[in-house]
Amino acid sequence: MSAHLTFPKGGVHPPEAKELTEKLAVETMPLPAELELILGQHIGAPCTPVVKRKEEVAEGDLLAETKRGLGVPLHAPVAGSIKAVGSSPHPIRVSAPSITIKTDPEAQAPAWEAAVDWHQLSSEELLQKVHQAGIIGIGGAGFPTHVKLKPPADTPVDTLLLNGAECEPYITADHRMMLEKAEEIVEGAKILLKILGIKACAIGIEENKPDAIGTMEAAVQKAQEPGFTIGVETLKVKYPQGSEKQLIQAITGRKVPAMALPSAVGVVVHNVSTTKAVYDGVVRGKPLIEKVITVSGRGINKPANLLVKIGTKVQDIVDFCGGTTEDLARVVLGGPMMGFAVSTLDVPITKTTSSVLFLSEDEIDTTELSNCIRCGWCLEACPMGLEPKEIGIYVEANRAEDTEQFGIFECFECGSCAYVCPAKRPLVQFVRLAKMKAKRS
Ligand code: SF4
Ligand code: SF4
Repeated sequence: MSAHLTFPKGGVHPPEAKELTEKLAVETMPLPAELELILGQHIGAPCTPVVKRKEEVAEGDLLAETKRGLGVPLHAPVAGSIKAVGSSPHPIRVSAPSITIKTDPEAQAPAWEAAVDWHQLSSEELLQKVHQAGIIGIGGAGFPTHVKLKPPADTPVDTLLLNGAECEPYITADHRMMLEKAEEIVEGAKILLKILGIKACAIGIEENKPDAIGTMEAAVQKAQEPGFTIGVETLKVKYPQGSEKQLIQAITGRKVPAMALPSAVGVVVHNVSTTKAVYDGVVRGKPLIEKVITVSGRGINKPANLLVKIGTKVQDIVDFCGGTTEDLARVVLGGPMMGFAVSTLDVPITKTTSSVLFLSEDEIDTTELSNCIRCGWCLEACPMGLEPKEIGIYVEANRAEDTEQFGIFECFECGSCAYVCPAKRPLVQFVRLAKMKAKRS
């Protein structure tokens, strides 16, 4: 096992709260009666529907494709009929264009057997398959995977990093994927290496998942193949260890310059679950139509790691997980550090949803907001070396346009500053507002 690595600046240690689900094997959720597929599942322009109301579709059929920008196609997670091409509640925005499918419970799902020997395909053919499978970074912001696999020609890449850190509290979906699908992840890593035309891959896992470290090491050993050098690196537990720049610095010692992509230091980063989706897309011909999410928090009766169809509504998940408890105080899509509270259970799971948290009153902080006491804790916590305090002061003084000097576009909204702030200042919201206004000015 390697030395325990981490990034040098900032970071915090929130309670891990993973014990609710880390030992629970992934369960497959029964098909809901209908699914809501949001057309903008990824960064960039939303997809354009290629189906009409009342049309019948089979599992895996194309529903929408990209006409412009960076996007990826969207496929039917189930067989059924198109109930509507309209809009639905959105996890962040009020509503968004979507396609509703009424599930056909009698339809036979495809077997999605492992039928393709990826070794026989060229890098270009593999890349096309990744694109056609509709794969985006499913552990993060939703950047199309095929785009990340084509780094600019002037920044040659020599290292692939797989992110298995899963540093957000509560979430255990990647942990379970590494325990239950290790061989597919390693095979997916080789496919990514072939596309990139490089040999070296390191899989970064935090030390609080020793079983995943052992399982992945065994899978790597078993899958050794000339031309590939894959290893597992043990990381210290520190939030936000799984963010791209921090992971790169922890494992390679390379520092990505401000406003640059990881390829600027010769690295491409993909999440372990995205890598499993690459395996499925290439070898099984299975598009990204379902994903493992963590359902956790003391506000849900039966926490779980669930394999759900993309488009499953939170209400259906609540029903499957035995309902909510009386002291439920907040529902969050994503982790407690970077997720978003939602006000309706009608919102659907998207390709980027990693978890749904049902937080009880004693799991949320209800301390009242007060004035900045200039303690400097937010500066110490920021992994990017920013000054959240100053950004907040400028925003409150209606000078958001003048905050670019503080490097606001380097902020990836990890929430470490807000987490440590004793005055409970909404520092991430301040940065978001500053970015919005700076872009407009
Ligand atoms: S949210 Fe932004 S400013 Fe706050 S700690 Fe994270 S990177 Fe720094
Ligand atoms: S942590 Fe909060 S109170 Fe302390 S300096 Fe930063 S904004 Fe001010």
